[in-house]
Amino acid sequence: MIIYEEKYAKHLIHPIDRSWEIWRFCPHRFAANIYIGCSHACVYCYARSLRPDYHKRIEVRINAVEIARKELKEWKGRLQPVNLGSATDPYQPAEEKYKLVRGVLEEFYNFNSPCFIATKSDLVLRDIDIISKLSSKKLCAVLFTIITLDKELKKMIEPFSPSVERRLNAIRELSEAKIPVNIRIDPILPYINDDPAMLEELISTIADLGARHVISSVLKISKTVWKNFRIFLGKYDRTLIRKYERLYFKKGFNDLAGYRRAETKYRYKVLKQIAELCKKHKLTFGTCKEGFFDLHTERCSGLKLKGRYYPSLENYWKFLYERRESTSLEDIIHIAESFRTSKKYRRKLRTAWFKGILFKDIPGIKQEKDLEKGIVYMVQGD
Ligand code: SF4
Repeated sequence: MIIYEEKYAKHLIHPIDRSWEIWRFCPHRFAANIYIGCSHACVYCYARSLRPDYHKRIEVRINAVEIARKELKEWKGRLQPVNLGSATDPYQPAEEKYKLVRGVLEEFYNFNSPCFIATKSDLVLRDIDIISKLSSKKLCAVLFTIITLDKELKKMIEPFSPSVERRLNAIRELSEAKIPVNIRIDPILPYINDDPAMLEELISTIADLGARHVISSVLKISKTVWKNFRIFLGKYDRTLIRKYERLYFKKGFNDLAGYRRAETKYRYKVLKQIAELCKKHKLTFGTCKEGFFDLHTERCSGLKLKGRYYPSLENYWKFLYERRESTSLEDIIHIAESFRTSKKYRRKLRTAWFKGILFKDIPGIKQEKDLEKGIVYMVQGD
């Protein structure tokens, strides 16, 4: 049974740049979660780490619309695109009753402010009129998640989320309404939804339905994710437990957010396959916090909304690749300034540079010490 707790929130829109990993990779650093908790209960859910009953107790911020109005008024004109659903699905079943997302979207429209919706639910279609109005002004796009067309597998990994058919229908209807639909094939679960034939079927299907961009990344494992996911693997296929231990704990590494990442060779191989399939089916492609920028045909999320963006590691990476000679902190700060970043941002950038973690685990980039310039980065092999 799901418990719904109605609460009055003091704040709604907040920056999400606390983790270094988000700070390095994400050009969008604002989020607003109208619900805290998510009843879809996906077996790989990263948000599960926030509290053990995340999928059974949902906090409903019943004053979300009023708070959004107040905050958008204060922030007017200065806001970056806001992610409506960074740690929860905004269109989970509770939204059918509370209709808060719709009210919040109307406030974004009234204040001419950009936002994007990350969801797995066809309930998003209920608000197609307001989303359409926003997207015609480049103020809204939908990031829609679908990681398999296999109905049985979907039931096992995302038990309480809408069916494959309903999701495909949502992608079709959103696309027909000319709303940008970027598909998250995320996460790739090694040995489960990474079969090339399955991926091709999925990518060709979403391309036919009108999607324009794919974002993908491979499952990351925290202690909590692993505890839950290991139980799932035991039921799905026990032999995979060993394979995951090898891929993640023997050959993988810890990222800056504390997640265990799968072996780089595996991640690159599967994401390259997806990138090639996207090319074949005329979709653009980007990875999420993977660092394989050579595979990108568009920025990670593929969003082209109005509003300010922060520079991401991809901007610095491109500079290194285009320049093909050692790059100093001064060069990087110069790029950051061109994005009108704050002093606080540039202080963080300097710290990351001196700690040697700005390009940590990014394939193809090496760090060296230069007598005059101090630490410099360059493309490996040059
Ligand atoms: S939809 Fe997202 S937030 Fe909700 S359970 Fe699934 S992974 Fe977690």
